[in-house]
Amino acid sequence: MARFSTPAGGVDRNAAPYLYGPELDAIAEALGAGQFGHGEPVEQFERELAGFLGVPDVVAVSSCTAALQIALTTAGVGPGREVVVPSQTFCATIQAVLATGATPRFADIDPNTLCVTPQTILEALTPATRAVLPVLYGGRAVDLSSIRDELDTHDIVIIEDAAHAFGSDQGSAKVGATGVLTCFSFGPIKNLTCIEGGALIPRTGQDAHTARHVRLLGIGQSQAQRIRTTAYDVRFRGLRATMSSVHAAVGSVQLKWFPGAAAQRQFLWHSYQNTLADLDRVALIDVDIEHTVPFNCVVRLDARDAVFAYLRDRGVGVGVHYPPNHTQTAFRPWYRPLPATETTAQQIMSLPFHPAMTETDVHRVVTLLGGALRADHAPTNIA
Ligand SMILES: *Cc1c(COP(=O)(O)O)cnc(C)c1O
Repeated sequence: MARFSTPAGGVDRNAAPYLYGPELDAIAEALGAGQFGHGEPVEQFERELAGFLGVPDVVAVSSCTAALQIALTTAGVGPGREVVVPSQTFCATIQAVLATGATPRFADIDPNTLCVTPQTILEALTPATRAVLPVLYGGRAVDLSSIRDELDTHDIVIIEDAAHAFGSDQGSAKVGATGVLTCFSFGPIKNLTCIEGGALIPRTGQDAHTARHVRLLGIGQSQAQRIRTTAYDVRFRGLRATMSSVHAAVGSVQLKWFPGAAAQRQFLWHSYQNTLADLDRVALIDVDIEHTVPFNCVVRLDARDAVFAYLRDRGVGVGVHYPPNHTQTAFRPWYRPLPATETTAQQIMSLPFHPAMTETDVHRVVTLLGGALRADHAPTNIA
């Protein structure tokens, strides 16, 4: 059987999946079982995730985009309602809102964290708001407890896009264990990968019940029940968003080895922090590293585009995460001015960041970044 080794380090890629090795045997075992769809390996992965996070239940699904749509639907979000959401996110967050029939109401961010704050959320509320959807940018928890009572008063639900934040903490709890609806991504480059996958953390047994039906086309009976009867009942509108056994098997291996990759991500982020301290004209986006398993490493700088081109020309895998959404063609109907988002959108640049990298790789990136800044003579006003 073909073997593989963990992908190499280096600075040419912005992000990369990290495999520990035993995934291949786990995939072979799942394929050998002859049941590829939702099955025992998925339920086992759900129990393992629940144990890791310290929550009673987890609903595994095919992607974070599906988890967000299911969470929104579970919380009663639909046509005629608004969801307060940052523009500074991957477009999947906004598409999930639109898929429910609701509309996005874009909120501004703190330029130092690229996350929404209680103030930017409050400023965006309208009588039509049914949910607020903070994005845990870079893996950093977003604490909305100071406005939770006010949101409760208006029946506004909090749903977290924690696609970046698997493994991070909020206070003494893991992200996902703070009593709100939380959605994780297990896509190819996320902190933990199933190749493709996601999960939703329900608040209640009722949430879990609804979500499990919605992920499988709204059908009321389990597969085990269906094979014993001649009919089934479709009880809800639903999606086809189950996770396959093969993906769950990969996830179980990744979860077992996760603490090593989490420590490596924190180590690399610290290493960038220390090395970047020697450079003027570059501000590091803060991720609250003591509580965070960082997903990426993002800086702000003037003349971003020139620096980006300089580094790309030298084989450094820089990126921009993300072009804002409130100015995207498809989302323009919901445009409103967002000063901090619009300013930072011109300044942010993601440095190469994945667990196979070494400290030497970090030094190489920062040395080249220093060269790019010296090559650029544009005036600057970054704090
Ligand atoms: C990756 C990502 C998603 C979508 O996750 P999928 O599992 O690919 O559907 C949503 N939001 C953010 C912020 C992401 O980075």
